[in-house]
Amino acid sequence: MKRTRLIFLGTGDAFASGGRHLSSYLLQHPEGELLLDCGPTILASLNRHGLSAEAIDAILLTHFHGDHIAGLPFLFLHYINIEPRSRLLKIVGPPEVERRVMEIFRAMYADTAAEPLPFALEFVEMKPGERRIFGGAEIDAFRTVHQEDPPSLGFKIRAGDRKIIYVGDSGWSEDLIKHTQGADLFLCECSFFETRYETHLDYPRIAENAGRFGAKRIILTHLGQEVLDRQEEVALEMAQDGLVIDL
Ligand SMILES: [Zn+2]
Repeated sequence: MKRTRLIFLGTGDAFASGGRHLSSYLLQHPEGELLLDCGPTILASLNRHGLSAEAIDAILLTHFHGDHIAGLPFLFLHYINIEPRSRLLKIVGPPEVERRVMEIFRAMYADTAAEPLPFALEFVEMKPGERRIFGGAEIDAFRTVHQEDPPSLGFKIRAGDRKIIYVGDSGWSEDLIKHTQGADLFLCECSFFETRYETHLDYPRIAENAGRFGAKRIILTHLGQEVLDRQEEVALEMAQDGLVIDL
């Protein structure tokens, strides 16, 4: 039987700091497969690790910044040309998800986007507080402090008896303490070290609250140059591209 496995495809920030690929994670579990965000380096990541995109049931998008969504046009081309897909693909994200994704597809590959796709694509809007099932996993969306309108999302993902909290990009919020209670894994963005932004997390803020998060394991990701430059001072686990963890 397939285990519940998380594969770190891209753990860098928007600047590909340290040569890291951009945000994307593949969650495989016995009931299905989910892609969490789809950064523009998605195909490089899949190819480097010899991974197939075929089994992905749904893609969860946290928000509409390019480092989290600009891989979708490449993934569509991959499904048309390299790993032919006919099965339904669901793309889940904040309100406006269909318009945002199709706009970048048309901008990047106008000719291909003008033709019907050989597979069914269903866009599903999620608002903070909503719960749905995708790829056999129960997904709760919550608001993160990043984009306002439409609101950025974090996801609580229940796959079998495992619970993962994924925050794509977020500033500090006490809600993070609440959302991480009882989780097996908290996948937490950590873009900065000395710089403090309202819309991103920095290492000192995460470290001072580490004992309050309720997750059994915290992995820092979306790592920026400040964090990479001072990694000997980082006491929490840091993600790296290609990391595979069994939950
Ligand atoms: Zn980002």
